[in-house]
Amino acid sequence: MNEELLAIVRIWENANAVSDLEARCRALVESERKARKDLKLAIAELDEQRARRKQIRQREARLLSKLDTHQRQLRNTRKLIDLGQASDYQLATRQVESCKATIGDLETQILCSMEELDQVDLQIEKQRERVEACKRAVASSREATRQELPGLEERLSEFREVLPRLESELRLFHLEHIKRLRQSGQSIVSRLRDGCCSSCHFMLAPQMVNEVQSGARVHTCRHCGRYLVPAD
Ligand SMILES: [Zn+2]
Repeated sequence: MNEELLAIVRIWENANAVSDLEARCRALVESERKARKDLKLAIAELDEQRARRKQIRQREARLLSKLDTHQRQLRNTRKLIDLGQASDYQLATRQVESCKATIGDLETQILCSMEELDQVDLQIEKQRERVEACKRAVASSREATRQELPGLEERLSEFREVLPRLESELRLFHLEHIKRLRQSGQSIVSRLRDGCCSSCHFMLAPQMVNEVQSGARVHTCRHCGRYLVPAD
């Protein structure tokens, strides 16, 4: 193969390898970042559930204290009625009924609160497991980064170091053409396939097909401008 074309293919392969390695590095870093974010969210949710539990317990304590007050009041009023010491019998009887109704209402509220507490306890238990799973995910992604990243970065710097030498084998107009292709976001090389440029499907003249296939000359696609290389 023509030496310049060979250098162009190597530059292309080098760029592909660099881009694959960079993608892998980014994926590792991103995976660790996501695991940490998930853990943070899971912990925040657990904190919220614990705060909710605390609120329910506080409300329950207030209800129990009210219940205690009303039960005492009920006992005292009944005692006065039983001893015939109530100053107003009818008022005392109404107080007993009202106390009983309030006690019934408080007991219902306490039961609801206890059920709510059971549910929150279950949610807290599940959330604790989720937090533990998130911690394991953080540890494993951190370990993957620790193990893989240095090797990937080393290979990246090797590929980057080779690039100037490969570029020095090319004449300036090729370097400028490569730069233009890169700036437009295109791959610099396209393979020949069935007599066409495999990137843009432009059909080549038979003589050009032969020359590309033999690799004897450097050709660019007249349509997309990529360097043409023989089929695999
Ligand atoms: Zn093309």
